[in-house]
Order: sequence, then structure tokens, then C-alpha cells
Amino acid sequence: MNPIAHNLQSIREEIGKAAEECGRAPGDVLLLAVSKTFPPETIAEAVRAGQTRFGENRIQEAEGKIPLFGPDPKLEWHLIGHLQSNKARRAAELFDVIHSVDSLKLASRLDQAAGEAGRTLSVLLQADLAGEETKFGATAEEVRALLEAAAGWPNLRVDGLMTIPPFFDDPARSRPYFERLRRLREELESERPGCLGRRHLSMGMSHDFAEAIREGATIVRVGTAIFGTRA
Ligand SMILES: *Cc1c(COP(=O)(O)O)cnc(C)c1O
Repeated sequence: MNPIAHNLQSIREEIGKAAEECGRAPGDVLLLAVSKTFPPETIAEAVRAGQTRFGENRIQEAEGKIPLFGPDPKLEWHLIGHLQSNKARRAAELFDVIHSVDSLKLASRLDQAAGEAGRTLSVLLQADLAGEETKFGATAEEVRALLEAAAGWPNLRVDGLMTIPPFFDDPARSRPYFERLRRLREELESERPGCLGRRHLSMGMSHDFAEAIREGATIVRVGTAIFGTRA
């Protein structure tokens, strides 16, 4: 078995184990393979091993990769990196899901671009629950305001929340941030029932995805553990 297929298999097993430990169905957690910096051949390797969801973090890089896979309804492309409003149009054309919506301006640009592209775009609201330590993301109050404004975006479907905690060597230290995102989802759901479409929680990376699953992650974003260290 090639290394990527092998890594995918063991990560799927770990995801299943972490999910079952807390009484969740393994299929409840989606694995997003973060393919940023890796060439199309490497992505194709993962596709052959049955992987269908991929995460990229830069528009320019994604432009050179995603179209090579053609319009394949089996594949899903997720933008996980910061997005500037002036690149919203390209993002709405290339991606199926945008994890990094953190401002009204960006959301309304994406809505307009999705409308022009004749599609409905799935988006997650990126929350910064760490204060000043991370650069992007909305505060809990701003997330609330975004959700209130969502009715005005006919071409966006707000499917949940995403967060990137500060990096800690010890994955247990990420857990309070994952817990905060889960609590924020619970609060928003009780305040505005039904407004968070699929109620996704996108949280957890190679070193801490098991902790994230224990706090309710429904999408884990895993790069290094699948593809190896990035150059
Ligand atoms: C790069 C990246 C990941 C994957 O990180 P790994 O540690 O390689 O698993 C996940 N989420 C975001 C937002 C990223 O930029």
C-alpha cells in the first residue's frame, strides 16, 4: 500500500475510535484532507485511496490545481485559509465550501459572486476564540451578527462554525478552544433555532483532531498526518 493510502486508513481508524469513545457514529465526522503545498499527483493518489474532500488555503495555488480534477461531483473542495474580499469571485467559482467567512463584507461579496456563478455556496463562520493570539476570525459577538445578517444572503448557506486555536504541542491544551466553539454553536442554536444549516463544527488538525472530536467536531482538517511535512 502506498504511504498516503496507509496514512488515510489509519487516520480513518483513529477518527472512528475517537467518535465511538464518546458514543458518536464514525460517519458523523468528515475527514478533510488538507492538500495545500502538495502537487496534483499527490492529491490524485489520495483520490485513488477513496478520499473525496480536500482543503486548500490559497486562491492562487488552488487555481492551478482544482480545475485539473474537472467537474467531478464526487470531489469537494474546501477553502480553509483567510480570504480577501477582492478574491471572493474566484473563491466562489473554485470551491464548494468556504470555512473562513469572518466579516459582513466578505459574506456579501461571496453571496454576490455565488449568485453570478449560479450556485449556492456552503459557508462556515470562522470564530476567533483566542482573542489577540490569532489573526483572523470573528469574535463570538461578530459571529452572532453574521448569523443575523445571513437571511440577506440568498446564495450562501451557513452550515456551521470553524476555528483555529493557537498552536500547542500538547493537544489537550487545544481542547478548551474546541469546547468554546461547541458552546457557541449551542448558544446560537438556542437563540436562532435552525439558522445554522448543517451545524458543522470544523475544528482539529493533525495533532489534535481526536481532542476536537471529543468536543463535537464534525469536520477535521488533516494535512501533515496524511501527506507528510510540508516543504
Ligand atoms: C494547514 C492547515 C491545516 C492542516 O494542518 P496539519 O497540521 O498539517 O494537519 C488545518 N487547518 C488549517 C486552517 C490549515 O491552514
